[in-house]
Amino acid sequence: MKKLLCRPKIYENECLVSYLIRVAEVNGFKHIGYLLNFAGLGWKNNRAPIHQLITGQTNIQPLLGSLGLEESISQASFALRRFERKVDTSHIIAKHPKVCSKCIEEQGYCHYQWVFLPIMVCLKHNVPLIDTDTKTGKPLSWYRQRLDRFDGNSLFTESLIPKCQSSSIQLTKLFVTLLEGKSAPTSVLQVLHGLEFKDALSMVDLLAHYQCRVKGIKYRPVSLGNMWVTQIYTGVWRILLGWPDTFYELLSQYIDRPMSTKGATGINKHFRDLHERLHRQRKNEGVSRVKAEFDRFIETKWPCALEENRFTRIHLSPVNRDLISKREACKILNCRPERIYKYVQQLKLSVTVFKGKSNYSRREVKSLANLIESNWSFTQACEELELSRFQLKQLLDADLLPVLQKPDSKNRNWLIDKRGCIEKIEKLKVKAELELGLGKKYSLGGIHRLGFGICELIVSMEEGRLAYCYRDIRVKKYSFLKFCFFRQR
Ligand SMILES: [Zn+2]
Repeated sequence: MKKLLCRPKIYENECLVSYLIRVAEVNGFKHIGYLLNFAGLGWKNNRAPIHQLITGQTNIQPLLGSLGLEESISQASFALRRFERKVDTSHIIAKHPKVCSKCIEEQGYCHYQWVFLPIMVCLKHNVPLIDTDTKTGKPLSWYRQRLDRFDGNSLFTESLIPKCQSSSIQLTKLFVTLLEGKSAPTSVLQVLHGLEFKDALSMVDLLAHYQCRVKGIKYRPVSLGNMWVTQIYTGVWRILLGWPDTFYELLSQYIDRPMSTKGATGINKHFRDLHERLHRQRKNEGVSRVKAEFDRFIETKWPCALEENRFTRIHLSPVNRDLISKREACKILNCRPERIYKYVQQLKLSVTVFKGKSNYSRREVKSLANLIESNWSFTQACEELELSRFQLKQLLDADLLPVLQKPDSKNRNWLIDKRGCIEKIEKLKVKAELELGLGKKYSLGGIHRLGFGICELIVSMEEGRLAYCYRDIRVKKYSFLKFCFFRQR
């Protein structure tokens, strides 16, 4: 065991690095790097893996053991345990230490909570944590000689400490509670209710990221000072307060300010990327809450931002977005864009206009497509019934065949009720006779020449004024030409 002048005890909520700074300080080491090298770390230039020590990635036990401080670890490990689970956000620990000068003056150590980014103020003294020397502008160092001083031996000055905003106190309070493994009090914002530390922080960071991006700033909180982090997180707090409307507001800002020079295409890509990212991280409860509102925003405010077929790497949930673009509607209906406009005029489709673009209900488009698909156009009806265009037109005009859509000023297409036509043919078939017996028989052409036009013919067949035969001699199943041999009764 290495000889030390003094072995202070670690406090229950003391940061491990703060403890090592104190040990270095009372034993006359220049900074903790020297202390750890003395313990056998062997890093160049007396540097030390500070972040790895805080996160527990580096096992400090052997070093503490060689210094005869191993008893401390059991208490310090309380802080380290918080990191054992994977946290989705990479923004957890500030690069530089943050301290409350009043706490250090009263208690003589740093709290382990202070290293976390969302811990912005001291809740005991209601002051922002200090991480920058206001005189020199230099950040506070882990390698400082004394716990209560900046490098160059200047003390933390209290007079320059600004007041803190209530939002930063609220947010700090929440994260301190979560850090201690407790659940947030019921008075806390509904949207954060029931979230664990990592989930809540992921959510806050995600919103912070998108709030910064809309202003064209890159979000790198780890290297930002506490003052800037506080400013950004205060903005996020405002979003959380007005959730979800404030979040929708944030998202709609992207529409006017796309992040790429590609304009609308850029926005679509951006939202696709965002959706994909949210989708991949959806196991994080915080992220999944953002995703739920993101989906709702896209669904109600900005349909078509996400075209399902453009997602290649992820499998979308079966929830179909009801609103679709004109292009997609054309694809489903197999028609040109002008046709869609006509359908809207005929009140067959409803239209939702958003940001100057028309969107349509997938449900309506599909049911219309289904209707068209399962019935006959004029030409199809001619082919299937084996009637001339003239004959078919006469039957339709006389209302002898059922119709779903007649041409008018807005539309020149017929839609003929296929099922109704088949029923009509079937009824006539039932009335047909096997043999006509005695009397003069006429062919279809012959009966026409006798003055029976197609309309009179069918009415007479229906009313039984004509007897007729039915022969299954044509390829077309519902061919009218299967009726042959007519005889007047
Ligand atoms: Zn304090």
